[in-house]
Amino acid sequence: RTRSSEDLIRAEGPVLAHNYHPLPVVVARAEGAWVEDVEGRRYLDMLAGYSALNFGHRNPALIAAAHEQLDRLTLTSRAFHNDRLAGFAERLAALTGLDMVLPMNTGAEAVESGIKVARKWAYEVKGVPADRATIVVAAENFHGRTTTIVGFSTDETARAGFGPFAPGFRIVPYNDLAALEAAVDETTAAVLIEPIQGEAGVIIPDDGYLTGVRELTRRMNCLFVADEIQSGLGRTGRTLAVEHERVVPDVVLLGKALGGGIVPVSAVVADREVLGVLRPGEHGSTFGGNPLAAAVGTAVVELLETGAFQRRAAELGTVLRDGLTGLVGKGVVGFRARGLWAGVDIDPALGTGREISARLMNEGVLVKDTHGSTIRLAPPLTITEEELLDALSTLERVLVGA
Ligand code: PLP
Repeated sequence: RTRSSEDLIRAEGPVLAHNYHPLPVVVARAEGAWVEDVEGRRYLDMLAGYSALNFGHRNPALIAAAHEQLDRLTLTSRAFHNDRLAGFAERLAALTGLDMVLPMNTGAEAVESGIKVARKWAYEVKGVPADRATIVVAAENFHGRTTTIVGFSTDETARAGFGPFAPGFRIVPYNDLAALEAAVDETTAAVLIEPIQGEAGVIIPDDGYLTGVRELTRRMNCLFVADEIQSGLGRTGRTLAVEHERVVPDVVLLGKALGGGIVPVSAVVADREVLGVLRPGEHGSTFGGNPLAAAVGTAVVELLETGAFQRRAAELGTVLRDGLTGLVGKGVVGFRARGLWAGVDIDPALGTGREISARLMNEGVLVKDTHGSTIRLAPPLTITEEELLDALSTLERVLVGA
């Protein structure tokens, strides 16, 4: 007996931790840019798993790679080598233009691992006195949910009730090079920022900011760690969002789309001088670098090597931007967009982001609010122009009707 959406939503209440407040849709199937609920209603997915589904639901090349690997070998742990990991690391390093890969699973783990590596580098290479290393981060950041990471969040909901927190972080306003310069000193191991702040509402820094961060970190002898977990892997029209300023960070953190929407795959990618500081026993993960993850990750890198997804995100990004420009003054008060990624500020008089998202859901389009009256649009990069235009006209209809 299949259970109805209503029944399944009700059943979650007593047995699932209430750390999310999902829209009331119960997805049972998906393909490409479309998902289908238990009752067979279809929705255009304009969130794409927070960019974990850049290549669409059940992308055929990725599903084939996963199937092939499932039939051969799924897990070894790093106690032994597996025949898929070397190739994955080679291709991912080449894709990013860096030397070495530290494979992990989730985004938060990649961030935690990046922090560990940066501190070790600070002590062993830069010569910071023991336990004195600092890391400079930006206000309104989102890097994940572990205790260290929420400790340097500026979002009270993310922090309150979860202290005490790890010391060693300095918070400066985003997009402010003078504040960054004032915070960096001889103890600084790294500057950790998102090239575009996703959860904050797709906040794009001024042109020159990333270049400035690169120059400053080089001059002050600390690492530039770019969290590309949401912005990377094609979303903005480039492989990495830092490429819009032709900047190469010392450390790039990847996740989400690296697992093709199939398995959790994340990575710290960096030059040998940096990742080379890790020695056996100092860091690890039972699942990190497992053969299934490596097979899917390799297939993801193969898709990106063609450049086709990046081009598509850039081209359709123009359609998205034009569409949103046409909605300014008609319920949209402003927006920020790069590639197939937009933060759209809705006139608060028309409702909260949550209310607008619920109305869009009723019209067959799935989005997610960030906070206040901002919604975020991030469809799979496989979406067609027609589907994208459809979603934009649904948004217009919802705003006019509101
Ligand atoms: N970093 C950024 C920029 C993110 O957007 C996210 C997730 O939204 C994370 C890190 C955390 O990733 P995960 O949820 O896989 O731990």
